[in-house]
Amino acid sequence: MNEYTVIGAEPAGIIAVVRILQALLNTTPNVMAAKKLAKKVCWIDPQFKVGAFGQEWRHVPGNTTASKYRAVYDDIFAILNVYGITSPDLSSFALYSEDREYPSLLETAAEPLRWMTAALQSLVTPMIGQAIEILGAINDFQIHLASGEIFHAKKCILALGGRAKGLPHADKTKIIPLEIALDRARLKTFMAKQSRESHSAVLVQGSSHSAALAVWNLLACGISVKQIMNKPYQYYAMQENSNGRVCSVNENTGLKGAVAQFTRALEAKTVYPHQWSYDILSPDQPVDYSPYDYIISAIGLEPVDSLSIQGVNSARLYYDHHTARTEIPGVFAIGVGYPLAAEDGSKNVGISKFWPDMGKVISYWR
Ligand SMILES: Cc1cc2nc3c(=O)[nH]c(=O)nc-3n(C[C@H](O)[C@H](O)[C@H](O)COP(=O)(O)OP(=O)(O)OC[C@H]3O[C@@H](n4cnc5c(N)ncnc54)[C@H](O)[C@@H]3O)c2cc1C
Repeated sequence: MNEYTVIGAEPAGIIAVVRILQALLNTTPNVMAAKKLAKKVCWIDPQFKVGAFGQEWRHVPGNTTASKYRAVYDDIFAILNVYGITSPDLSSFALYSEDREYPSLLETAAEPLRWMTAALQSLVTPMIGQAIEILGAINDFQIHLASGEIFHAKKCILALGGRAKGLPHADKTKIIPLEIALDRARLKTFMAKQSRESHSAVLVQGSSHSAALAVWNLLACGISVKQIMNKPYQYYAMQENSNGRVCSVNENTGLKGAVAQFTRALEAKTVYPHQWSYDILSPDQPVDYSPYDYIISAIGLEPVDSLSIQGVNSARLYYDHHTARTEIPGVFAIGVGYPLAAEDGSKNVGISKFWPDMGKVISYWR
């Protein structure tokens, strides 16, 4: 029987496996014992290619600084060292050799994650496949794969990822998928292939980092944009508070890096002064989608619906934003589909948040 099954090998899944390995070091008498128990961690993913972070999103400019990624990765390399895995030559990774505050693309941060994925696979029991159903209960869950194989585990950690929230009142045939809108080269090709000519601006709904990036990509492709937001753009900043302490403002919701720089110029009308316009509508105000030929939904992510757990679809699974516990004892949910809450009530997403958050919630997984 496996102690844990971790489903998903994206950044949250990778971090979950590392936190479990770290906990084993703290609770077993020596490394040999920890290594033996590590084999009782089953790790399932169809590809082991760092999920969307390492694939669909890899050409996206992110909002995490290189030093924040490096701080997390250095901790992970140190834990792997204890398990006898020698760190790679860090200078071979652009993340360590480039001198940029924000890596230009997520691909830069994905490179070391690919190396870690392979190293972790050698320590635990990896299984290439798609989990479709979890039956049973805590201490004897049965995890069914699409291939027909069944695994048993005492506890399950779901790191399934997320998908763009839909716009229920918009015509689905007009929607440009978010993963295309966020990749400029793919967007250009996609628009060039459309048989329908667009007679209107493209509608972008949302005011997140993804929305701002989609707007930037459209404008750079020569396409006018109408944006619908429920609040104005917010920017991340470091500010001194009344006690003289410097702290971050809009840590999770604010724009950062290259996207923030572009959006500030857009708002100041120093770039594309005639090709971008926006309206701010409260979330309960209906949007009239009919004038638009193409629509992009960038209003956030929701959990994927790839798995049934005791009959509950993964997209509708209740989870606690502070502990990662779900409505099913022994099943925990993490990552971009099930983000934990930050102190200000916003959602903690991204590698530099997953690492400390999972360090806190792992105590509930025992
Ligand atoms: C515009 C943009 C900017 C971003 N900037 C940053 C940033 O600055 N810093 C940062 O850290 N992150 C950033 N991200 C990444 C993002 O926030 C997530 O952290 C990251 O993509 C991982 O979450 P995901 O939803 O993409 O999961 P995914 O990468 O989709 O991973 C989910 C994994 O689970 C697997 N899976 C799903 N269902 C099953 C199943 N039933 N059985 C087996 N396996 C399954 C999938 O195959 C996949 O491998 C950014 C993303 C975007 C879009």
